[in-house]
Amino acid sequence: MISEFEIIRRYFTRRARTALLGVGDDCALIRPRAGTTLAVSTDMLLPGRHFFPDADPEKLGHKALAVNLSDLAAMGADPRWALLAIALPRANEKWIAAFAKGLFRLARRSGTELIGGDTTRGPLAISITAIGEVPPKLALRRDAARAGDDIWLSGATGEAALALAHLKGRVKLRGRARDACLHRLHAPEPRVSLGRSLRGIARSAIDVSDGLLADLGHIAKASGVAAELRWEALPRAEAIASCPDKALAKECLLAGGDDYELVFTAPRSVRSGIAAAGKKAGVSVTAIGTVVAGGPRVRLRDAEGRTVSTPRAGFDHFA
Ligand code: ADP
Ligand code: MG
Repeated sequence: MISEFEIIRRYFTRRARTALLGVGDDCALIRPRAGTTLAVSTDMLLPGRHFFPDADPEKLGHKALAVNLSDLAAMGADPRWALLAIALPRANEKWIAAFAKGLFRLARRSGTELIGGDTTRGPLAISITAIGEVPPKLALRRDAARAGDDIWLSGATGEAALALAHLKGRVKLRGRARDACLHRLHAPEPRVSLGRSLRGIARSAIDVSDGLLADLGHIAKASGVAAELRWEALPRAEAIASCPDKALAKECLLAGGDDYELVFTAPRSVRSGIAAAGKKAGVSVTAIGTVVAGGPRVRLRDAEGRTVSTPRAGFDHFA
């Protein structure tokens, strides 16, 4: 039976390139580049709550890091380092190797270095801490939206939640729509390059992990403003647009979660800059509404200005 230290050595140790000291000592040593501050975030993934117990380990390795990089992206930070705390019920080397493969592929692609962690036997649990760099004044905070800002969304929401509905038997997806949705659920792409391009242009940002309305609601609350969304302006992926169950499609679009898109606000004066940032990052960006003065809330209106009913917002991991 492979030991804890052998697992770390074999699967989670790569030579440090940017850290002063990586895996192997009591602590890693890192130094942010001049003029930057560290942006730090942790996310935990548990089977049954965040992924299926029999999930493909390679995709899981990708997703575990991706959801953390998404938080860095939402801050406008450049990913630099990560720590991995993992509990494994048994030392299944095939599983660990595939998990490490998925994790390190995204790590390399995003410029993230694994510099430490913790490995123990126990019920499967994965926690990654991601560390990035951002010039402190340019960090995209939740509390900086202002009345008059446009509200923007990268990509489109709803496909991951639709995939989940498919897997739970609530809807039957087929062909390309099914593949696209399952890919969004199992291998989300963190919008790192967009987040970076938005610094100095966007005013506030958050990543959509718990549903568009819920996460935009966090910006509204932190900034003390209201958000008005235009129902017709919301981008719809093919699978959402063609879903026969309209109520389900609407729920996924607005409150699905697991999207890992960025929702952000910016003054009207920088519209062309936002479009250029999207182009540079290779991701679509759509103006979906406006920030207005008023109590913290998110409202959805149709083209005639009527309020559109919204599903109960947000995924509560504690429910
Ligand atoms: P300690 O006893 O000080 O907690 P450990 O024996 O747990 O140290 O870990 C030894 C080294 O391996 C440390 O540098 C730690 O950061 C690293 N490490 C442990 N588990 C992992 C992992 N899953 N991924 C990356 N590094 C790890
Ligand atoms: Mg330890």
